[in-house]
Amino acid sequence: MDRDAVLAGLKAYEGELIDIRHDLHRHPETCYEEIRTSGVVQEKLTAWGIPFEAGIAGTGVVATITGKRPSQGTNARRAIGLRADMDALNMVETNRFGHASTIPGKMHGCGHDGHTTMLLGAARYLTENPDFTGTVHCIFQPAEEGGAGGKKMIDEGLFERFPCDAVYSLHNKPGLDLGKFITRKGPQLACADSWTVIFRGTGGHGGAPEKSTDTTIPLAHFILSLQAIIGRNVPGLDSAVLSIGIIKAGSSHNVIPAEIEVTGTSRCHRPEIRDLLETRLRQVAHHAAGMSNCTAEVLYERGYPPVVNAPRETDTAIAAISALVGADNVDGDSPPINAADDIAYMLEKRPGCNVMIGNGKGPQFKNNHMPDYDFNDEIIVLGAAYWVSLAHQELNPAL
Ligand SMILES: [Zn+2]
Ligand SMILES: [Zn+2]
Repeated sequence: MDRDAVLAGLKAYEGELIDIRHDLHRHPETCYEEIRTSGVVQEKLTAWGIPFEAGIAGTGVVATITGKRPSQGTNARRAIGLRADMDALNMVETNRFGHASTIPGKMHGCGHDGHTTMLLGAARYLTENPDFTGTVHCIFQPAEEGGAGGKKMIDEGLFERFPCDAVYSLHNKPGLDLGKFITRKGPQLACADSWTVIFRGTGGHGGAPEKSTDTTIPLAHFILSLQAIIGRNVPGLDSAVLSIGIIKAGSSHNVIPAEIEVTGTSRCHRPEIRDLLETRLRQVAHHAAGMSNCTAEVLYERGYPPVVNAPRETDTAIAAISALVGADNVDGDSPPINAADDIAYMLEKRPGCNVMIGNGKGPQFKNNHMPDYDFNDEIIVLGAAYWVSLAHQELNPAL
């Protein structure tokens, strides 16, 4: 790959890409309602002569670019998926610049407007410069922010209709310098599950507990035992969190409640630990109830799985970044982060790697999901160039 040629080629589209990003930022859409956004993506793909299929998981779009370089029998991959999310957040934007949100209560507070734009730029460049062997599927997905749009695309046959040997994603990281990238092999982002336990007993008179079964006793055992799961069951070198956020019970100081409801969250970075937390939490709840002749009902709802990067694909991503900005500008062993991302579902189905690109420092780049956040236009060309570099790394390994 000729790095300077790629950057110069993408730079030629920069003005138009910034216009697209600002247009998307002005018109944020959330959770499967990305109709206008999907329309913009389809309009640009059409204008640039890139074939695509729309309507996957509602507003999802997959554009397919076929390389024109004849196979030399050396490329390890036939097809890769590059994924960008398109959705915004339900939050009020406080920015007053020209491209601030025009939709009350909605904002591109996570920079998915930038992710969509960077992938569009890469799709255009790869179409105009198809000097690779194999296929690139550009996956534009809905509903990353809590709606599991990536899972819905998989359920609607994403990888059967668009076979991919590997899948990749790119997320901006506020606070990380411009021109820097981070990633890591193995668990990178956390899973976030929620659960509710309902303890049931007879309830009764506060002055005559011997005539009732008391739900407060199993609750007390349960709360303390949760932290024993973390301390005694989770291996010392793993991280895991069990926290209680809500306890609902009681009507009067002298009435033992017949029912107590406790709700909390589980966080961890490995699928094995996730299974362990659920299994032990269920056991502890039922045993605690049984000791006091009460019952427990456990509702455990799995959110996004952890993001787990495959070793080979992470090496490939690091090589693609190094070819672009030099090895000094990528940290390939950055610490895990307790945020979640639904690229996790795609990474469960195909090996791949999630990379984070520096969004820069400054008041507007403190963190995602803040009301004065903005995606940094200065990284659009670099992010698109990463996608191009990755395609070359995967589909032109001999070059
Ligand atoms: Zn977000
Ligand atoms: Zn995000």
